[in-house]
Amino acid sequence: MENKTLTIRASSLPSYQDCARRAIIPILYRRIVDSGYVLRDTRPGVGQCIGTACHAAAYSALDHKKHGTIGTSTDFHVDQAVSAYDTEIVDGIEWDAVTGNKNDAYKQIRTLVGSFCGEILPMVQPDGIEMAFEAVVPQSELPYEVYTSGHVDLDTVDWSVEDWKFGSVHRSHHAQMGDYSLLEKSARRTVSSVVVTQFPRTRISKPYPGAQRHVLDISVCERAAKSVLNHMIHDIAEYERTGSPWSFGCNPGSMMCSDKYCRARGTEWCEITKGMGDE
Ligand code: SF4
Repeated sequence: MENKTLTIRASSLPSYQDCARRAIIPILYRRIVDSGYVLRDTRPGVGQCIGTACHAAAYSALDHKKHGTIGTSTDFHVDQAVSAYDTEIVDGIEWDAVTGNKNDAYKQIRTLVGSFCGEILPMVQPDGIEMAFEAVVPQSELPYEVYTSGHVDLDTVDWSVEDWKFGSVHRSHHAQMGDYSLLEKSARRTVSSVVVTQFPRTRISKPYPGAQRHVLDISVCERAAKSVLNHMIHDIAEYERTGSPWSFGCNPGSMMCSDKYCRARGTEWCEITKGMGDE
């Protein structure tokens, strides 16, 4: 038996549902490249960089609240976010239709962090902030251990699991949240609720609609997580047998199917998009 393991991050589960062929790349990157596939280089999207920046501010705000310095100003946390953003973009960035330049990005960061500090921070009592979890996935298809892992944005004192999304579009995150619930269960406790709060990254020319909290059904989330993990493991086992990219479904209709966001577009790894041009 080969002495190897595989780790699947909870945050990859929704992406896998969107396009398995794209989402498997970071998980099997070395294996794919060593098999001779040449993938494209991509730069981080501005949405991803603003998300990372706002998560840094959320961490800062929650940490101050947990340690009794709730009076720390929103400006302080915005500064944390801007600093994180500037670090993220140092090697280049892809702008999009919602954020077209650096000034827009800074204004949106201020709005999103202000929304977090004004709307959400007062209503949550932090216990664990960005805690890391890892657990073995029960499975019999691969001859080595498969782990799943995740960083939970916030565990509250009343055992709720909270996740922040700063994207321009709200998507289903049931599988990711279900994986968090399963990870918490295997590590220490059964959570009381799973909540995704969407802070919509909105064009500067439009009014910011406010944070939107989505309380999800824990059982549904856990079933979604198990289903996606099982499909991933089955597909990876198929790939181990065949070496074929077609072990993984592909979705050219994905919103992320573009030269900007997908390393496989137009390559042999995703032959269906060869010659399609960018969209
Ligand atoms: S090019 Fe499109 S269909 Fe192919 S892997 Fe990327 S997102 Fe999926």
